Amino acid sequence: MLQAPERAVREDSSIEEEIVTIKMKISSSALEPLAEKYMRAKRFVLQWLYEHKTTSLKEVHKALYEVLREKFGLKPKLAQDCYRDAIAVYKSWLKNPKKGRFPILRNVSLWLTPKASYTVDFNTMTAKILGEEVKIIGYPHNLSQYKDFKVKEARLVKRGDNWYLNVTMKKKVQVEKQVKGLMAVDINMDFITLGNESKVIEIPTRLDDSAHYKKLAENLQKKYPKRWRENKRILGRIRSFHIKARNIVQDFAKKVGKWVVEEAKRLNANYIVLEDLNKMISHVKGLKKNYREKLYLMQYRRVQQWVEWQAKKHGLNVIYVKPAYSSTTCPKCGEKMVESGYRMLKCVKCGFEDHRDFIAVMNLCARGSLTLLSAPQMRDVITNR
Ligand SMILES: [Zn+2]
Repeated sequence: MLQAPERAVREDSSIEEEIVTIKMKISSSALEPLAEKYMRAKRFVLQWLYEHKTTSLKEVHKALYEVLREKFGLKPKLAQDCYRDAIAVYKSWLKNPKKGRFPILRNVSLWLTPKASYTVDFNTMTAKILGEEVKIIGYPHNLSQYKDFKVKEARLVKRGDNWYLNVTMKKKVQVEKQVKGLMAVDINMDFITLGNESKVIEIPTRLDDSAHYKKLAENLQKKYPKRWRENKRILGRIRSFHIKARNIVQDFAKKVGKWVVEEAKRLNANYIVLEDLNKMISHVKGLKKNYREKLYLMQYRRVQQWVEWQAKKHGLNVIYVKPAYSSTTCPKCGEKMVESGYRMLKCVKCGFEDHRDFIAVMNLCARGSLTLLSAPQMRDVITNR
């Protein structure tokens, strides 16, 4: 078993914030006129920002607060929410280097401050939005695990005829920084491998299942090169194949996130080491990719997200290390390894031989503990980013 580095200079623990957004479907009741008022005001503010070329909250407040109150009939807090919302839209448009056309704001979307503009009661599954009582009619099945979270701002949106309230919730989590042990996660196309020097688990990925649906979608497009865009039935089927492909990857990543944390606990590891593949990802971006490769990148990002999310939730740390040669370097002597059988590698210098995934995990763990030891000079590590 890998020894935890003793000289690691870091704080014992740190407080980190866990943030979730809960999407809930709500009964519409009488929200329509209120939302309409807000959207008119938001469009007005956005136009004003464009003409005055400003993003200053102070300036906007001075010039528009009374107008929003009197001319658009918004309550004090909602008037503030409205111009803050418009400033956010304007800023994101400014930030976009391509810019494109100025946003028109077709979709109904309202920024709501907790208490002042809305409250939500998870016991009775009701919410009060701008004074209107609404029922929560759809919500995530795992809602109960966020009971001790603090309710923050929300966004009220309308999609088609449905209304949704997306509530942001936060909680402070204590993360132990002292190194107890490491566990590495190696992600490749066929397998996800987790473990340390003493134990390794291999999980087959579901890339092929996912690629299968991508392929079905492509076949339909090829079969009806002209018609598929116009034909609703074909389009519907193509879409459902894409959704299936995506869901497979998404569900898999979610499960991996859970398994990683469970296994880390079993191994008494509070540091999870992942490869920082972002460089590889941008490199591959320029290449012509097939579905498997594209899906691999998607899978990589999703797994990364879920591992981080689960780790944070359970007070574990995630560190990233440089991926270079982790699967072809000898963990014993650092020399190059060559293939010696199906998924087996052998060191040309010291003769050490083992399964490819096991070697990757050993190397990642070693790199991880080296990184933690040299913490102040950490270059290739980003914790819980
Ligand atoms: Zn060797």
